[in-house]
Amino acid sequence: MSKLGDLIFGQDPKLRARVTMTLLAVYGYAASTAILLYLVAADLVAARAAIPLVIFMWTGVPAFYLLVRTGLSTRLGSPGMDLPQCMFAMASILMAYVIVGPMRNAVLVLIALVMVFSMITLTPRQVRILGVSTLSCLALAMAWLIFHEPERVDVRIEIIKFVLAGSTLPVLSAVATHVAILRTRLMAQKQELRHALSMLHEVATRDELTGLHNRRHMMQLMEQQVKRQQRSGEGFCLALIDLDHFKQVNDHFGHQAGDMVLRAFADAVGKELRQTDVLARWGGEEFLLMLTAPDPGLLGAQASLARFQAALQQVVVGNGIRVTFSAGLTEHPMGEPLHETLERADHGLYAAKAKGRNRVELVLPGQDQSHTNSPPLAQGDQV
Ligand code: GH3
Ligand code: MG
Ligand code: MG
Repeated sequence: MSKLGDLIFGQDPKLRARVTMTLLAVYGYAASTAILLYLVAADLVAARAAIPLVIFMWTGVPAFYLLVRTGLSTRLGSPGMDLPQCMFAMASILMAYVIVGPMRNAVLVLIALVMVFSMITLTPRQVRILGVSTLSCLALAMAWLIFHEPERVDVRIEIIKFVLAGSTLPVLSAVATHVAILRTRLMAQKQELRHALSMLHEVATRDELTGLHNRRHMMQLMEQQVKRQQRSGEGFCLALIDLDHFKQVNDHFGHQAGDMVLRAFADAVGKELRQTDVLARWGGEEFLLMLTAPDPGLLGAQASLARFQAALQQVVVGNGIRVTFSAGLTEHPMGEPLHETLERADHGLYAAKAKGRNRVELVLPGQDQSHTNSPPLAQGDQV
């Protein structure tokens, strides 16, 4: 069923909307055809007049559908073929006006219907073009009737109807222009709102200084990861990272230099992150790293941290400022509350600092205190 829908309407949402609008007209043409055939059957309209109109309408319907559905209309510069479709509808209505005899007054209502429809599809300029051309063609249709069937029309009534249409169409046109302006304004506001929402999302999830995820967002990401773990069984690792002797950077080089170092750290480590790794600024000069699927294992996580240390060694900020980091690394076993895993990583970090800094300490789940089985990378603390 959905395949048939895709075939008729296409898959692109914009295309689907255009095709739907085009097919909506089918309803109007089908109703008009039914009425015309009834009038022929009731001997109110001559078949030789009605049949060409029916053929005209049912040539236009599939033609517009194919143009829009195949995308040819886009290449022609009018994706929805809105103005041509409105013009075509007006032409059909005016032809009906000429042939339906005493019913012709009812046909005039259809002109208003097409004008209302044009308000939501056409630009103000197109509405004006439609209004002027409809009025001109109506004058031609009336003149044709007056000259070819003078016995069946009252000239005075035709003139009154024309004056009425001539004074109504500009009003409709003005309203349509107003609606089109409102539509444009609404679209602009929607765009602004979308932009504001993405800014808000940025502010709510990112750390301003480093551009990394902020603590609140990291909490959400970890909770999502816990849920994923419950489904897939795949573990993940957490590493709490803290810059060594960072206070000295601030003291010796100033707070601004400290900020530059934080940014440089985020850039250097950010480049080394795999797609599945997430790094967040946990607070101050502390960062939290989450290494996720494909299950990295603690060995894989250690290798990643060693890579980060090597990358940071290459970083020199300002007039020769170099920093190192210490980290506590652990794994999150299924079912363990997150805060316990974080505490364990914190114990690891504490141990790494106590053992001289610039190193990664691994704490296995179930171990209360740090378990040192990582090769220290210390080359002495550097600032
Ligand atoms: P340790 O090796 O034991 O971690 O020593 P440390 O000096 O890095 O640790 P400590 O916690 O004593 O100092 C952290 C410093 O980080 C103190 C604080 O002023 C500084 N800091 C925290 N946030 C920022 C920040 O956003 N910008 C700057 N420039 N400094 C910050
Ligand atoms: Mg520190
Ligand atoms: Mg600290």
